[in-house]
Amino acid sequence: MRLIQNFINGEYLDAAGGRRFDKRSPLDNKVIASISEAGAPEVDAAVRAARAALKDEWGALTTDQRVELLYGVANEITRRFEDFVEAEMADTGQPSHVMRHVFIPRGAANFKVFADVIKNVASESFQMATPDGRGALNYAVRMPKGVIGVVCPWNAPFMLMTWKVGPAMACGNTVVVKPSEESPQTAALLGEVMNTVGIPKGVYNVVHGFGPDSAGEFVTRHPGVDAITFTGETRTGTAIMKAAAEGMRDVSFELGGKNAGIVFADCDFDAAIEGIYRSAFLNTGQVCLGTERVYVERPIFERFVQALKAKAEAVRYGRPENPDANFGPLISQEHREKVLSYYRKAVEEGATVVTGGGVPDMPADLADGAWVQPTIWTGLADDASPVREEIFGPCCHIRPFDSEDEVVNLANDNIYGLSTTIWTNNLARGHRVAARVEVGITWVNSWFLRDLRTPFGGSKQSGIGREGGVHSLEFYTETRNICVKL
Ligand code: NAD
Repeated sequence: MRLIQNFINGEYLDAAGGRRFDKRSPLDNKVIASISEAGAPEVDAAVRAARAALKDEWGALTTDQRVELLYGVANEITRRFEDFVEAEMADTGQPSHVMRHVFIPRGAANFKVFADVIKNVASESFQMATPDGRGALNYAVRMPKGVIGVVCPWNAPFMLMTWKVGPAMACGNTVVVKPSEESPQTAALLGEVMNTVGIPKGVYNVVHGFGPDSAGEFVTRHPGVDAITFTGETRTGTAIMKAAAEGMRDVSFELGGKNAGIVFADCDFDAAIEGIYRSAFLNTGQVCLGTERVYVERPIFERFVQALKAKAEAVRYGRPENPDANFGPLISQEHREKVLSYYRKAVEEGATVVTGGGVPDMPADLADGAWVQPTIWTGLADDASPVREEIFGPCCHIRPFDSEDEVVNLANDNIYGLSTTIWTNNLARGHRVAARVEVGITWVNSWFLRDLRTPFGGSKQSGIGREGGVHSLEFYTETRNICVKL
């Protein structure tokens, strides 16, 4: 069994008193790692190390020197690709192809891309007139914000964590990362990469633990943390925002979603089925951008439901390393209980269960894992709880619609506003509907495609702020104005 320790000031450390908690495999519920749980003293040590590094070696580097080191981090992640794949598969139980093609390569890209962004960003300058005719030059400089608290979820742990750590470090900040208690391994492994590459001690720190009254709350309440970037549930975001109010710390939040898929009758039918299938079931439905509400124009409704059903019923459950498997378990027994409670609620609230709705029969060695069936419902009212609330599982409700106005109103009738995917061959309609849906990101005839330089974030209760490309700089730097009389 592995021991996963906190990474503070360049060293792997146990918590005082040796507090530990177990990490169980989602595949079979067996304990696979023992995690050292940081208390307030360890979090304090991590924040102090991060503050010291701001002033010392890291703060003294030029942008070019930092950029070279970040390229080194990206290269070292690529060199240790298999270690990261293995660690992430162990934590999440997801098929290896998702790790290999999306989550781990994106982790390396998060260091490379943001190094390039900081290298190429321009700054503002204005020449102004003065009464003596000599004028003055105003210009802006970007300074690091300081120590950034990075609080992460479990659904794509490495990709989502590095998406914050990469730009934070590129901008000259230092970080204290609190990975999810369900997925601590890749954040821990990244410490080895930082040491190999020669990132100064204290720039990257990791503290393990839970949320309330544990490492998560200790990080977000610590007065030495200058700003907090968080990905997770909206309810948790509310608690963190309250903590951040003390000391007027800035926040960047990527929160929950209840995303709509809109399928017009004029779409490329096969492409739409494939796109909605992926958006509802990839990563066993544990994707913030995933689709849990599908609206299909009436003429193709029945055909669409049957085609999606056939695909959902063809998933192949199995261990991550099994090349035939394309469908993994949920992250934990606790999360499975939540998802299954919605499977029950859907029936109670009058759904027709098109497929799924329960737990698959698994072989004996996987019988204790967090497996659920991909599930499709029809017939629920628009105010039914499985239609309104984020479930974060492999399930969706499909409802027919008759007009563009109707479907825009349905899509917007939710507290969340993270993403939408629209399927149509009428390009004008695609643009028109995309501009009317109240979300941070809209895909037309695609899903989950994104250049890291573009803005990313949620509308309504799906987030605060935008990250990506130069937008990340808005959060991870403070712009200061300097005025020089000429
Ligand atoms: P979560 O909110 O339960 O936990 C996220 C992190 O916050 C964990 O590290 C947890 O320990 C910590 N935490 C919990 N309570 C805390 C508190 N009071 N103070 C400080 N830290 C606390 O989320 P999760 O279950 O890990 O992840 C799933 C959620 O994340 C879903 O709602 C999903 O939509 C969302 N998500 C959003 C995006 C996005 O980009 N918008 C991306 C991925 C996931």
